[in-house]
Amino acid sequence: MEGLTMRCLVAALLFSPVIAVAQLTGRPVLVEARIPKPPAVLSGSGGNSLIYEIWLTNMEPAPMRWTRLDVTDGSGAALHTLADSALWRDMARPSQGTIAFLDRPRLGNLQRAVVFVHVPLTGPAPRELRHRITVTDSIGTRTLDLRPTMVDAAPAVIGPPLRGGNWLAANGPGNSSGHRRALIPVDGVPAIAQRYAIDYVMVDTGFKTFGGDRLKNESYFAEDADALAVGDGVVSAVKDSIPENVPGATSRAVPITLETVGGNHVILDLGNGRYAFYAHLRPGSITVKKGDRVKRGAVLGKVGNSGNSTEPHLHFHLADYNSPLGAEGIPYVHETLDIVGKCKTLGSGCSAGAPVTRRRLMPLENEIVRFPK
Ligand SMILES: [Zn+2]
Repeated sequence: MEGLTMRCLVAALLFSPVIAVAQLTGRPVLVEARIPKPPAVLSGSGGNSLIYEIWLTNMEPAPMRWTRLDVTDGSGAALHTLADSALWRDMARPSQGTIAFLDRPRLGNLQRAVVFVHVPLTGPAPRELRHRITVTDSIGTRTLDLRPTMVDAAPAVIGPPLRGGNWLAANGPGNSSGHRRALIPVDGVPAIAQRYAIDYVMVDTGFKTFGGDRLKNESYFAEDADALAVGDGVVSAVKDSIPENVPGATSRAVPITLETVGGNHVILDLGNGRYAFYAHLRPGSITVKKGDRVKRGAVLGKVGNSGNSTEPHLHFHLADYNSPLGAEGIPYVHETLDIVGKCKTLGSGCSAGAPVTRRRLMPLENEIVRFPK
């Protein structure tokens, strides 16, 4: 009898709707915090860094202010801090693009923000990361320690997607490129397939991408270049027959949808959950079909200007699923890479010198690189 009473009491405590968590004294910070894709190591010419996102949702029925993010390794050694405006600059509401808060540091009930984190590393990558978030809620300024997160420290090693050069890695890996922040829900799953994507345009010694008539695709140095298999693999998707655009910021030959955004494209299944995506190819140039086995270096198609593209270029990225955008982008390194120069912004402030051969790197945003011929 006594046991039954105790069980009833326990049940009442667990299930009573009267004790709402928001009414508890000393209650936890009412935040949902998730890191949907484990932090991965990006190896670039300036060293290693970690790129990932933290999704934060305010679960309190009142606005919450976000003031600080501290990142440490598993031993508690400081790696990175973002505070106040530096934090808000790298936070965005998913539906509103980058830096889009009307009232930047505050989120209302059930509002979510994504923190686009970029942690520069001075030494080897840590195995584990810890995060402390500081918020001001209805109780006061408080901190929240997230569960430890493991780091994915083993990027794929791949061959070149193109031959020769010079190729400018436009919109390439960095924390603020358009690709990096393109969080897009596909089939109900929000993901950043283009987290490490690059738009390769070929440049001449004056850093121009074309010579002659700017409205003709054949004027562009990238047009018709071979797109190469970066590893042995199986062709897992092919789309063809989308006409090329007239070069220009607003001209598109077809309406841009999830189906057409990548233009004519090939996806190559490299195994181990890695898929290489080649977009904007010339119509009729694709030389492989779904199911074909190809060897590293095989020609898949030719660079063009189809889909959501302003001029001939190769959009290339690696992701974890056989879908142009419904996948999470993953980093990789090239076995060797010649770094030739860099532009400050796309198409301006460019400089170049003698190629410097580096091992196990990926090109970063606006670097100029050269692949073997
Ligand atoms: Zn692109």
